[in-house]
Amino acid sequence: IQAGLDMGIVNAGQLAIYEDLPAELREAVEDVVLNRRADATERLLALADSFTESHTASKGPDLSWRELPIEKRLEHALVKGLDEYVVADAEEARQQAAKPLDVIEGPLMNGMNVVGELFGAGKMFLPQVVKSARVMKKAVAHLVPFIEAENEGRRQSNGTIIMATVKGDVHDIGKNIVGVVLQCNNFDVVDLGVMVPCEKILAAAKEHDAAVIGLSGLITPSLDEMVYVGQEMQREGFTIPLMIGGATTSPAHTSIKIDPTYNNPVVYVKDASRAVAVAQSLIGGGHEDFMRAQNKDHERRRLAHAGKTRKRPQKTLAQARANRFATNWQEYQPPAPAQMGVHVLESIDLEILVPYIDWMPFFNAWEFHGRFPDILSDAVVGEAATSLYADGQAMLQKIVDEKWLHAKAVLGFFAAHSVDKDDIAVIANDGKQLTKLHHLRQQRQLRSGMAHACLADFVAPENTVDDYIGAFAVCTGFGIEEHIARFEADHDDYSGIMLKVLADRLAEAAAEYLHAQTRKHYWGYAPDEALDNAALIAEKYRGIRPAPGYPACPDHTEKDTLWKLLAVEDNIDLKLTESFAMYPTAAVSGWYFSHPESRYFAVGKIAKDQVEDYARRKGISVAEAERWLAPNLGYDPNQQSRSTEAA
Ligand code: SAH
Repeated sequence: IQAGLDMGIVNAGQLAIYEDLPAELREAVEDVVLNRRADATERLLALADSFTESHTASKGPDLSWRELPIEKRLEHALVKGLDEYVVADAEEARQQAAKPLDVIEGPLMNGMNVVGELFGAGKMFLPQVVKSARVMKKAVAHLVPFIEAENEGRRQSNGTIIMATVKGDVHDIGKNIVGVVLQCNNFDVVDLGVMVPCEKILAAAKEHDAAVIGLSGLITPSLDEMVYVGQEMQREGFTIPLMIGGATTSPAHTSIKIDPTYNNPVVYVKDASRAVAVAQSLIGGGHEDFMRAQNKDHERRRLAHAGKTRKRPQKTLAQARANRFATNWQEYQPPAPAQMGVHVLESIDLEILVPYIDWMPFFNAWEFHGRFPDILSDAVVGEAATSLYADGQAMLQKIVDEKWLHAKAVLGFFAAHSVDKDDIAVIANDGKQLTKLHHLRQQRQLRSGMAHACLADFVAPENTVDDYIGAFAVCTGFGIEEHIARFEADHDDYSGIMLKVLADRLAEAAAEYLHAQTRKHYWGYAPDEALDNAALIAEKYRGIRPAPGYPACPDHTEKDTLWKLLAVEDNIDLKLTESFAMYPTAAVSGWYFSHPESRYFAVGKIAKDQVEDYARRKGISVAEAERWLAPNLGYDPNQQSRSTEAA
């Protein structure tokens, strides 16, 4: 009886790229794993001795690759992301080459092609690719002055792609990653940055004779802005493809809202690993087949959507309100905040935030999915994830020790009661109303026994008992610009992206820390709470901190109310863009609710009766309410006929 290997133990610190294993060893291991021959185990054991020797002998990094011929050395540096020797190697290659451009078009492009192939085949991962790009950029930066001196002209590129985060939006981690990956694949990328108005995008596309425009956005108002860019491209007679990406975008929105505005290719790009394939399919030969398939998908999604809106059953606003979260306010004593009023924290020590970091989103930002810390020992991505984690920890240490970033926050605690069913009045010490928060209520069909939730239900109605609400805004992104500029000057996208990802992590950690401080001290309703980080991430505490723009309160414009209530801009210099994105990024804001039964939920699709009521309560036109609530409309605002589609 032959027994195969059922289980292997992986040393995550020693994972190598499969192709790099010596052929002899690889075959012997495969024989064992795949149970290919009877004497497989003996043969592997015999062979193992010779490999242990050479591999355990030296402790330091293996520098044997330095003996390779120059082309191979450059390729090795690119594939492994090693930038230490690259300028010297690029110089050596230049001296041997007929002209400097040959170094780029020869060994460097060959090396990047290997990187591109390994990434496409799932054998290299995003952080490794971004590190490879850093090696490439440093080599190119060294060669460019020589190329210019000899006036050799430009290298052949696959085409120029304009990249921009749209007007009103400030998030650019995803866009920057896509830009790097495209550059690795020999596209010229013109990155216009963040908050880029449509005119500027279109002007740049003309100026650079661009082959593609790529738009990115994170917050929902950016969806509208992308529709506008599509319309303008149509109006100005553009014919180049439009790529759509970013956390808030989706295949459905692209097909239903953007594609119909523009008579030329519009393609949704899910993530950086898809960007290259899409760009290549859009440019050059054979793109007709690709677009035919895309257009079929667009059409299918539009049909599915049309079917859904007609069928989706909804409650009227009155019915939904009748089924609100029910509690007996006579039997509940809301806790009074220990420290009422507004508190400004001018400088939060970064060191105290570090233990509050949730690391999983750090890996998500680099397109790793799974769980932390399991991901570090994952058979496929473990090595790359471990190395990324080490790089992240090392930079975090510098951020803290050398004070690269500054964290500031403002918090406030006020008397409050719910009014008008779905709003919350915030009351000053003298009893006057400071402001009113406007909330939305679920209207979709829910499982029986579920209340139609609205955040206002978690605050006691007027004339019942005294109740309260809190608000906060925190930013950990102050001071980031000079470091981003430093990395840019050093052709180091890897560190630039890493810093932004870590700044975001610190902002979420700060929100977690401040919420804990609120429960224990400022509001003080849970003075003895003792939860570890895992329990905090799992939200095991009492109360919630819903953020405007998120599913329980999807209207971003409510941030304006929060900003005025806490004088956020005056107090900590954190600003809002015209789309209500917070700037500098790496910021979090929200409301504090203390009710033990308060919970997160998704408002979801709402009917026109609620939008009309909401517009009236907020004192804005129905059209304006429909614009800000576009992602939540359970009806087509352009269709006049049925005003309330209630079941
Ligand atoms: N630990 C994670 C937190 C992710 S959720 C991290 O570090 O990234 C982040 C925040 O989004 C929550 O704290 C809350 O403020 C907000 N949020 C989540 N779900 C929400 C919902 N349904 N409605 C409103 N806000 C929500």
